[in-house]
Amino acid sequence: MERLIQDIIAFRDERNWKQYHNPKDLALSLSLEASELLEIFQWKTSEEAVRTKRTEIEEELADVLIYAITMAHDLEIDVASAIRNKISKNAIKYPAHKAKGSAKKYNEYSSD
Ligand SMILES: [Mg+2]
Repeated sequence: MERLIQDIIAFRDERNWKQYHNPKDLALSLSLEASELLEIFQWKTSEEAVRTKRTEIEEELADVLIYAITMAHDLEIDVASAIRNKISKNAIKYPAHKAKGSAKKYNEYSSD
């Protein structure tokens, strides 16, 4: 992971792009790349998109991850810790005995 982060930042630094990478524009760019990923699925079933657009999905997913990792790097957020912390929070929000096999949002659980 550390090597991957270094490679992403080296790519940016070789192009002198850090000057454009403020947190707001990184968040905006991440969202735009997520939209490009979503666009691949427009007017298709999931199965059709996955079957016919595998390379495009991989590339747009990589774009999303590159912006996410860049933003985490610049804000000194440890990606692995952030993910582990969020999984722990989600485990409290979505206890397995209530969430198992359910697509309900946590605030839609019954109180029992
Ligand atoms: Mg893209």
